[in-house]
Amino acid sequence: MKEIRTRIAPSPTGMMHLGTARTAIYCWAVARHFGGKFLLRIEDTDQVRSTKEAVQVILDGMKWLNLDYDEGPVYQMDRLARYQEVVDQMLADGRAYYCYATPEELDEMREKQKALGLKPRYDGRWRPENCVGKPIPEGVKPVVRFRNPDEGAVTWNDAVYGPITVQNSELDDLIIMRNGIPTYNFAVVVDDWDMKVSHVIRGADHINNTPRQINIYRALGAEVPVFAHLPLICGQDGQKLSKRHGTVSVLEYEKQGYLPEAIFNYLARLGWGHGNMEKFSRDELAKVFDLSDCSRASARIDWKKLDWLNQQYMKEADDQRLAELTAPRIEARGGKVEGGPSLVEVCALLKSRSATLEKLADAALFFYREPNPDSEAAKASLENGGREALALFGKKLAELPENASSDDVYHVIQAVMTELGCPMKVLATPLRVVVCAADRTPQIDKTLCLIGLKNVCRRIEEGLAKF
Ligand code: GLU
Repeated sequence: MKEIRTRIAPSPTGMMHLGTARTAIYCWAVARHFGGKFLLRIEDTDQVRSTKEAVQVILDGMKWLNLDYDEGPVYQMDRLARYQEVVDQMLADGRAYYCYATPEELDEMREKQKALGLKPRYDGRWRPENCVGKPIPEGVKPVVRFRNPDEGAVTWNDAVYGPITVQNSELDDLIIMRNGIPTYNFAVVVDDWDMKVSHVIRGADHINNTPRQINIYRALGAEVPVFAHLPLICGQDGQKLSKRHGTVSVLEYEKQGYLPEAIFNYLARLGWGHGNMEKFSRDELAKVFDLSDCSRASARIDWKKLDWLNQQYMKEADDQRLAELTAPRIEARGGKVEGGPSLVEVCALLKSRSATLEKLADAALFFYREPNPDSEAAKASLENGGREALALFGKKLAELPENASSDDVYHVIQAVMTELGCPMKVLATPLRVVVCAADRTPQIDKTLCLIGLKNVCRRIEEGLAKF
């Protein structure tokens, strides 16, 4: 059987968009499903808009999502000689020709066509048969145009959209090279041909390009790959996803504290489904992935669902890993992780109630800085029995060994409540406000153990003296 080969071919002109990431995931899944190859190609021929930083963003994004590719990255700008070679052959045998029309002339042509109610298209004025004896204008650098067939139609069976037919009369002779740089539609065909890509999977915004590309494949005598176009990703309002809808750059999700496996899962599920699978691993996806299960309707982002999914992955994430991912976020908030309570244990305690790493860092911060309680809140918490409860608790706690368990601390809390006949709240509030200086804490006995009982006793003394 022929090897299944897919590729992701982003243009490094900005961020790595969610749509690109999802396409990459599907390309990866098809390749892995069939035991084939997944390639990365950087389409950097747009010299004005391509940047090194944007290339790095793509490489980082692929790495973050764990999208391992088997070949590449291949850079189109490294392949100029190859495109030139193909163009030269096409020029030599009439599949392509030089066009000397100036931009002003082409504008004029289009205006005339529009005035006549026609669709603007290149009229073939520099096709060899149309310019016999026509002088070549001086000072005009020609472009190379592909000679598109005039008759017939192009049909392909899109793996997502089904059969699509476009009449050749709808297409014109497109520019394939300008100043030695290939245009997208040409470079993509030469590359996919040379790289033996079997499945071209990409956004539906490229559907219009596909018939043009198929004509070039045919002109080159190359085998036409399977095409699969993926509907766009929309915001919750059904409009094309844009910054207005929130985050659209993949790496921004890393900053916001999402786990890559959650984004991977979420994007994979966006516009593709298999039975009632909602939460699945990469390997599970690769096992069942089939392009025919992709939806033809545009996919709508649902941020709440993403948060839910991320929370599920947070819950089951390894504590050590969470600690590593959370430490810099705590430091960025002014916390000092080194020398503080075990972050691994803090993460274990907090992860089931933190939807993202950022929220986890927020919730963990109080463990890593000296408390600076709000004076009003601290005073209020010590009223109505709070002061007595906290003082008694401090006294009893000091009698426990430093390595006492959270159960021991729990029993001390119980003992204070019984002795003073007060409800839990009377003690829990000053513990939270004065000792932890946190809006919320996880289970208080465990929290105090992590802070360290000596520290807790010191904070109680200081708090009672100050407020
Ligand atoms: N460079 C194109 C893009 O980023 C790739 C299109 C394709 O996959 O053919 O949209």
